Amino acid sequence: MRSKVQRGAGRHRKIVTSQTAKGRIAVMTVAAGAVSTAGVGGAAAANIQSDGAATTKTQSVDFELASDSTQAEDAAEAPVDTTPQILNVAEAKPVADLSDQLNKAIQASEERAAADEAARAPSVARPAEGAFTSPFAMRWGTFHKGVDIANSPGTPILAVMDGTVIDSGPASGFGQWIRIMHDDGTMTVYGHMQTLDVAVGEHVHAGQKIAGMGSMGFSTGSHLHFEVHPNGGEAIDPQPWLAERGIDL
Ligand SMILES: [Zn+2]
Repeated sequence: MRSKVQRGAGRHRKIVTSQTAKGRIAVMTVAAGAVSTAGVGGAAAANIQSDGAATTKTQSVDFELASDSTQAEDAAEAPVDTTPQILNVAEAKPVADLSDQLNKAIQASEERAAADEAARAPSVARPAEGAFTSPFAMRWGTFHKGVDIANSPGTPILAVMDGTVIDSGPASGFGQWIRIMHDDGTMTVYGHMQTLDVAVGEHVHAGQKIAGMGSMGFSTGSHLHFEVHPNGGEAIDPQPWLAERGIDL
């Protein structure tokens, strides 16, 4: 509805009001951008601000700005997000030139790097879920060279680390066994399984199912017999070996 008063205000004043609103929105946009870009943006903001200051006006103008200024601020944020990508690309080249020095440094801190990697990556898996039923200790007049984990037949047996299968088949005492040579030289042994899922020469990953639990060979019930042989040598207690790698039996 147009009143006589509004008509009386005249065309000229209405146009001025509209221009004023646009002018002030422009000030908001440039001023926000100037926070990150400075330089040219800052100078432009200074110029426009002086225009804006000269045309500050009526209630109706301020009301329109309240909603428009939010949009202006959002638009000004966009350039800030793209800035870090330029830095990432620039850093790629010098590393290749320093390969000799890097190799030396890596060799010198090999143990520390390996330990650090083991700590960060989930590279060791529990060999089986179940009850810890027999420790690495003397038992029945002979030394039990591994640990036993009991569960129902068919329970998944998992490779504890990445490695290569060096045995998968019948074995005296174990009924069936799987032996895996891991990348760090450690060998692990899995015994009594009723099913075998991997073949000799196959590469397996930590946590990969290699067999189904069973009670074959010298066994009184469904369980996994698990051994750890560092550097392919004599068996050690798997319990602290696993605990050091974040797995409690
Ligand atoms: Zn055992």
